Amino acid sequence: MVGEHTLPELNYSYDALEPYIDEQTMRLHHSKHHQGYVNGLNKAEKALARARKSGEFGDIRNLERLLAFHGSGHFNHCLFWQNMIPADNYKDPSGDLLSQIKKDFGSLDNLKAQFGAAAKAVEGSGWGFLAWQPAGEQLVTLAAENHQKQTQFTTIPVLALDVWEHAYYLKYQNKRGDYVDNWWNIVNWENVAEQFAAATEYNFDMG
Ligand code: MN
Repeated sequence: MVGEHTLPELNYSYDALEPYIDEQTMRLHHSKHHQGYVNGLNKAEKALARARKSGEFGDIRNLERLLAFHGSGHFNHCLFWQNMIPADNYKDPSGDLLSQIKKDFGSLDNLKAQFGAAAKAVEGSGWGFLAWQPAGEQLVTLAAENHQKQTQFTTIPVLALDVWEHAYYLKYQNKRGDYVDNWWNIVNWENVAEQFAAATEYNFDMG
């Protein structure tokens, strides 16, 4: 429905990811930053609906930019929250997901090294992703700037790491690398496996 996106509840409390991500960061990140993207997306969709009604598309370039930025911001955060779990409940990946990781990266450690390097090297605000590429039937890493730049369309993110400063600065200050390295302790690989299973259901028609 146009302009009716909502902020999802977290599956855990704001302090559940301590000590790797602190309570205050989680509270601000979810209730303020993520809510801002939800609001921005709804606003963009409603503005586009008004433009369709009036036939006035003079602001279309700006509206498409807002739609891409806030929409990606919203959806990326939805994935990011699900991809994490309290460290006490951490379990290494297994099954089909682990098999695919080994096939495409050689080992889980190799994946962590590549994904981590990509996330640490994002210029400014952005994201690290592990994504399923239907056309090549493989998992790939992507390093997005902002929420939506440098993506590869038709790939489906299954694991997302927010490396905007708002995700780590209160606790880690300028040490993004420490945040990225610590983050592996709270990755919810069972959720990643569910995202992966769903992503592999999508067959991109190469024509
Ligand atoms: Mn964020």
